Amino acid sequence: MCGIVGYIGRQDAAPILMEGLRRLEYRGYDSAGVAAVRGGALRIYKSKGNVRDLERLVPPGLKGTPGIAHTRWATHGEPNDRNAHPHADAANRYAVVHNGIIENAQALRAQLLAQGVQFRSDTDSEVLAHLIAAMPGETLEQTVRAALQMITGAYGIAVLDAERPDALLVARQGSPVILGIGEREMFIASDAAALVRHTPRIVHLDDGEIAVVRADRYETSTLEGGPTVKVPLVLDWQSEALSKGTFAHYMHKEILEQPDAIRRTLSGRLDKRFHTAHLGGIEMAARELLAVRRVKILGCGSAYIAGCVGAQLIEQIARIPAHAEPASEFRYRNPVIEPDTLYLAVSQSGETFDTLAAVQEVTRKGGHALGIVNAVGSTIVRACGRGIYLHAGPEIAVVSTKTFTCTAVAFARLALHLGRLRDLSAARGERLLSALERHCRGRLLRLWPTRGPSTRSPGRSPATATCISSVGPPGTRSPWRAR
Ligand code: GLU
Repeated sequence: MCGIVGYIGRQDAAPILMEGLRRLEYRGYDSAGVAAVRGGALRIYKSKGNVRDLERLVPPGLKGTPGIAHTRWATHGEPNDRNAHPHADAANRYAVVHNGIIENAQALRAQLLAQGVQFRSDTDSEVLAHLIAAMPGETLEQTVRAALQMITGAYGIAVLDAERPDALLVARQGSPVILGIGEREMFIASDAAALVRHTPRIVHLDDGEIAVVRADRYETSTLEGGPTVKVPLVLDWQSEALSKGTFAHYMHKEILEQPDAIRRTLSGRLDKRFHTAHLGGIEMAARELLAVRRVKILGCGSAYIAGCVGAQLIEQIARIPAHAEPASEFRYRNPVIEPDTLYLAVSQSGETFDTLAAVQEVTRKGGHALGIVNAVGSTIVRACGRGIYLHAGPEIAVVSTKTFTCTAVAFARLALHLGRLRDLSAARGERLLSALERHCRGRLLRLWPTRGPSTRSPGRSPATATCISSVGPPGTRSPWRAR
């Protein structure tokens, strides 16, 4: 999956951008590139292969700000140096990085070719650079806005104007763009992982939104030009959580982080007095929850699989019919949305396109959707307006480990809460609560031999890894089946 990084401020952009690209490498890509403005001119370097190949190409000590960079996952044109981003217009004034697909690129390309424009790549994205150059307008915002109004498809973009290096422009339609607010410097990225080393204060753009980003401020507006107000969120991620430390693989590190992550998912949410669990973020009164007759869980990939576990927990513990469905299919089958069904959208990143589209289908038809999400402030959280955060911390490995486990634990909390509102007895509620607490104390199945480095704090139980297929030490009965 592709990535965008950008910087504007007093520092030279290149080292910040290269470090940001390295943070996004885990997402996979086929080529990478960087552009910075220096002395009113664009300096662009791009190459097929990985970020290390690009580093060999970029002159050491490359000066200039602002700058943008990209890791590409080719959709239009093969992965090669020419097709890598950033792309520039014929006069080398504007540089563009783009995540997504411009659906009407072919038609626009034909029009631009007829006007004599010469293309240097086979990508859909290059169309945007030439369109921006062709648009009338006094400011970068006006020209980019006019160009985006001609485009259909999905995009997250960042644009540089070599003649006006006091601002960067970013826009979003279906592909995430996040601003990182620093001290008289601003960072942009398609993924918070590339920002948190610099600042915990972030702003997520919404679909159809543009931001003009200057070193000391940002202004957001809709594609049509109406101003919008965005208040920064503060992420509680520690930047060490994003580094591999002494581990050979993020996946190994994240497996071993599971007990701590589960503790955060459950922290302060177990109620021993009433043998139930609290659900701070769902903001539904007991009466509304009692009216729920069915639960439908929507997710993609491992979030869908965690949803299957969740459906079983809800059905067995709360005795409410529950079913998980791949979010990618949901909107295409014109689903019936029932007012007494609770729709749960599960996504670790909170940016999964099909899950977001499923939420939009539910809400468009008057249904209630709650999110079960790890990434604070992400698009699905905002689309649902309420839900449960996992607090698992950043998960860098593509394979889900701790977020999968924490999603299942969040479902257990929800099932316990719904069950105790109905006929789950206090005795059974108490047993479930104790089982969840055992997870917090780390009495878990060891999935991976704990040789070598570990993230354990001194004095903690040696059993540090877990897997949701075992909810207690080997040989114990599943607490979910305990009567
Ligand atoms: N469609 C663009 C290309 O093929 C962007 C792909 C991406 O999202 O990285 O270059």
